[in-house]
Amino acid sequence: MTSIVAPVFVRSVQAALPQVLAAIKQGADMLELRCDEAAREVVEEILARPDVRCKPTILTIRAKAEGGLFSGSESERLRLIQHACRLTPDYVDIEYDTWRKNPEFAAELLPLLAAADDHVSRKPKLILSNHDFSSRPADLQQRLLAMADITPVRIVKAAYQAQNLLDALEALRLYQELPKIISQSLVIIAMGEAGLITRILAAKYNAAFTFAVPAGSATTAPGQPTITDLIHTYRFKRQQRNWPLYGVIGWPVAHSISPMIHNAGFDSIDFSGVYVPLPVEPEYEAFRTAITAMRELPELNFCGASVTIPHKANAARYLQSHSGLLDDTSARIGVINTLYFPPHGPIRGTNSDWCGAIEALRVGTNWSLTDLAHKRVGVLGAGGAARAIVAGLATLGSTVIIYNRTLKRAQELAHEFNGNTGHVSAAQLDEFGATPCNVVINCTPAGMVPHVTTLPVNDIRAIDSSMVVFDTVYNPRRTRFLLAAGERGAKTIEGLEMLLRQAVVQFEGFTGQSAPLGVMRIAAEAALDRKL
Ligand code: NAP
Repeated sequence: MTSIVAPVFVRSVQAALPQVLAAIKQGADMLELRCDEAAREVVEEILARPDVRCKPTILTIRAKAEGGLFSGSESERLRLIQHACRLTPDYVDIEYDTWRKNPEFAAELLPLLAAADDHVSRKPKLILSNHDFSSRPADLQQRLLAMADITPVRIVKAAYQAQNLLDALEALRLYQELPKIISQSLVIIAMGEAGLITRILAAKYNAAFTFAVPAGSATTAPGQPTITDLIHTYRFKRQQRNWPLYGVIGWPVAHSISPMIHNAGFDSIDFSGVYVPLPVEPEYEAFRTAITAMRELPELNFCGASVTIPHKANAARYLQSHSGLLDDTSARIGVINTLYFPPHGPIRGTNSDWCGAIEALRVGTNWSLTDLAHKRVGVLGAGGAARAIVAGLATLGSTVIIYNRTLKRAQELAHEFNGNTGHVSAAQLDEFGATPCNVVINCTPAGMVPHVTTLPVNDIRAIDSSMVVFDTVYNPRRTRFLLAAGERGAKTIEGLEMLLRQAVVQFEGFTGQSAPLGVMRIAAEAALDRKL
C-alpha cells in the first residue's frame, strides 16, 4: 500500500514535535525527518522519541548543492548520516549524484544499511533520490534504471519540476512501465502545480509513498498537497489501479472547486473513480496534446473531463475533429464544458452550463419551464456564460435582452439566437433598466473575488421586489449585486446553484448514476469557505 509521508523540518525537537503529532493525527503513515539543520543531539533525541517512532521514519540530510539546507562540509554531513544510521531510522534517503560521485558515502554507509534481502535486522533501508528543480530530465528513465542497479537500494525516487501536464504524465507512464523491468519500489514526483496528479495518483499507481503536509504547515517542495486533501478529497487510501480518472481541464485550474464537488459525490455513491485538476496551457495544440497523451496511457483509464476557461471552444474543436457526438443545444452554443471518453464507441460532448443555469432558475423561482418561457430576461454580459444561458432561454422561448459593455458583441449574440423560439435583442449595458424585466442574470465577472465591491451595472434602481436576480458569479456566494438586489426586495439566486446543477449533469454522465446534490453542495460550500 502506498504510504503518505509527512516531511518535517527538524531544527529542534520542541519545534518539530507539534508537526509530527499533527501529521500523525491527520493520517500520515510515515515521517520524513529533514535533519539538514539539526545538531547531532537533536537527531539523537528526535529518533529516540516514542511519539515519533510510532511511525516508520525516513532520515534525510540534504546539502545545499542538493537543494537542502545543510551548510557544513561533505565529510561532516557523512559523519552525521553515519551516526543517524546507527540510531536506526527505517530508511535513509541519499541523493543519487552524491552516492555516485562521492565513493566515501557508499564505502562508509554500506555496512550500516540493510542488505537488499535483509528483512530481519533493524538497519535502515536505502532510498536513492534524484532531484531536478528546473525541469524533467531528458534521461529520466535511464536515471531511474541506473539507481535501481545500485545495491542495496530499496526505493528508487525521482523528483523534478514539471513544466506542464505532459511532464506529469511521463511519471505515470514510468510507473506503468518500470515495474516490468525492476523489482524496487518507485516514487516519481513531478513538482509544481502541473505535477500535482503524480502526488494525488501515487496510490493508484502503487508508488512506495507520496509526500503531503498537515493542513496549515509549510511545504518542503512546490505542489505538495495536504494530508487531508489526499485522504478526504482524493480518497488516497482507497484508490485502486483500475479506477477511472476524471478531471477539470483549465488554465489556471488550481482555484477550481470541481474536484471537491465531484470527489465528494463519487465517495457518497461509492463510485470507484477519482477526479483531479488538469492544468493545460490555453492553446488548442496544448489541449489536443494533453488529451491525446492521457488517452494513450491505458492504466490512467481517462474517462471524462469538465472543461473550463479558456478551453471550452478547444473542447468543441477537439470533439468535432474526432467525429464526436454532440446534442443540438450544445452544437448551437458552439462551445462545450464536458467531454466523455467511453471505453467503446465515439467520444461525446455537451454544454452543461445552460442546463445548470436553467435548472437553478427553475428551482430557485419554483416556476415551470413554461412559466419561464413567458418571462422577459435581462442578461448582463455577452461572453461564454451569457452565450450558454441565452441559448437555453431562447430555446425555451423566453424574451431576452442582452446588455453588454461592448454593444457589438451583444448584437452578434442576439442575432445568432433571435427567433430560436424566443425573441433576443441587444442593448448597451448603460441602458439596463430602460425596459422592465422579470429576471436579471449577471453573466459578467463583476463582483468576483478579488473585486468583490464591483457591481455589473452602475444603477440598480431598476431592480425591485417583483424581480428575480441571479448572479452566475459564485465566489463569493453572496455577491455585492445579490446583496443589493436582496435589499431592494428582489428574490435572489446564487451562482453556486448553477455550478452545482451543471456539475450534476456531468456527474450523471460520468457515473451513470443519480448525483447526490446535497453532498455535492456541502462539499462546494466547504471548499468556498476555505477559499475566502
Ligand atoms: P467572458 O467570456 O470573459 O465574458 C465576460 C463578459 O463580461 C463580457 O461580455 C464582458 O464585456 C463583460 N464584463 C467583463 N468585466 C465587466 C465589468 N467589470 N463590468 C461589466 N461587464 C463586464 O467570461 P464568461 O466565461 O462569460 O464568465 C463570466 C462569469 O460567469 C465568470 O465570472 C464566472 O464566474 C461566471 N460563470 C459561472 C458559472 C457557474 O456555474 N456559476 C459558469 C460559467 C461562468 P465585454 O464584451 O465588453 O468585454
